[in-house]
Amino acid sequence: LFNFSAGPAVLPHAVLAEAQADMLDWHGSGMSVMEMSHRGREFMEIIHDAEQDLRQLMAVPAGYKVLFLQGGASQQFAMVPMNLLAGKTSADYVNTGHWSKLAIKEASRFGKVNVVASAEDRGFSYVPDQGVWQCDPEAAYLHYTSNETIGGVQFPFVPDAGKVPLVCDMSSDFLSREIDVAKFGLIYAGAQKNIGPSGLVVVIVREDLLGQAMPGTPTMLDYQVHANADSMYNTPPTYPIYIAGLVFKWLKEQGGVKGMAAHNGEKAGLLYHAITSSNGFYSTHVAEADRSQMNVVFRLKDEALDEVFVAEAKKRGLVQLKGHRVVGGMRASIYNAMPIEGVKALVGFMGEFAHQHG
Ligand code: PLP
Repeated sequence: LFNFSAGPAVLPHAVLAEAQADMLDWHGSGMSVMEMSHRGREFMEIIHDAEQDLRQLMAVPAGYKVLFLQGGASQQFAMVPMNLLAGKTSADYVNTGHWSKLAIKEASRFGKVNVVASAEDRGFSYVPDQGVWQCDPEAAYLHYTSNETIGGVQFPFVPDAGKVPLVCDMSSDFLSREIDVAKFGLIYAGAQKNIGPSGLVVVIVREDLLGQAMPGTPTMLDYQVHANADSMYNTPPTYPIYIAGLVFKWLKEQGGVKGMAAHNGEKAGLLYHAITSSNGFYSTHVAEADRSQMNVVFRLKDEALDEVFVAEAKKRGLVQLKGHRVVGGMRASIYNAMPIEGVKALVGFMGEFAHQHG
């Protein structure tokens, strides 16, 4: 079976097999990871290794904290302004779709939000060129969503924020391509696509941005509190952190982020080629340069065939292809753990389906 879910999404088989082998007795400890004290020697080793592996994978420079927090990426929509907006007039946001809209809505509860560019005019089918953004050099930060999971739109560039801290929701393309962390003030990513089980969110934050939370910020929502306690202020999500650690080790074995990026490019290339060479049977509305390598969103020529497509695909073991209700059509999510065989199977099926129904 090949699972094209947008998240929670497929995880590397080898990781799940290792977790299964460890389930009752982690490394001779006699305990499942779920049963361990988070302050015990065993779990301290697990979280330490996870952090070091992630730092190595992303070449995180000195001066950045890596935090393993709870509440998913959605909680970051509030934590970011609560921690970075105090004492500033406003924050800049780029609106490229569903997830940026939610981030904007939440931030507006805590201060003034300036939408510097929006792709709503063309149905969120592209990334606005940075030349037209109306950025404020005094903004508290500049926020963008590097990959819109629902719209299938991905930034092909890292914005230049000048001296303003750059903040990115990288939930659905984290660890999928090389990025220069030094360009960012803060990166956050919900785990359930390229990292591990849902609920966990990874935050990478530049240390000079800590300690500025608004008065009244709940203790649990203050980055400084978690940074001071090395993500151990309270009981962290131990099992998701353990699985994330296994995923990071797996990624290192795959040639790291660079290896993954090549693999992801190949997969996305196959799928987009199948769409664009189908004589219009399949189509994508997303501008070519901004097509997501993670979430391939496409339509069938005849919407009436959507259900048949999904049902026939399922019979072949190709599941979770129905698009998000907001945009309709189909969506194939091909995160890091989706093997190329899955994409080839999908492409083969699409060709046959088009032949039969075209
Ligand atoms: N941001 C993006 C880009 C997402 O794709 C998602 C969820 O799919 C979220 C934020 C919200 O994540 P969570 O459900 O972990 O809060």
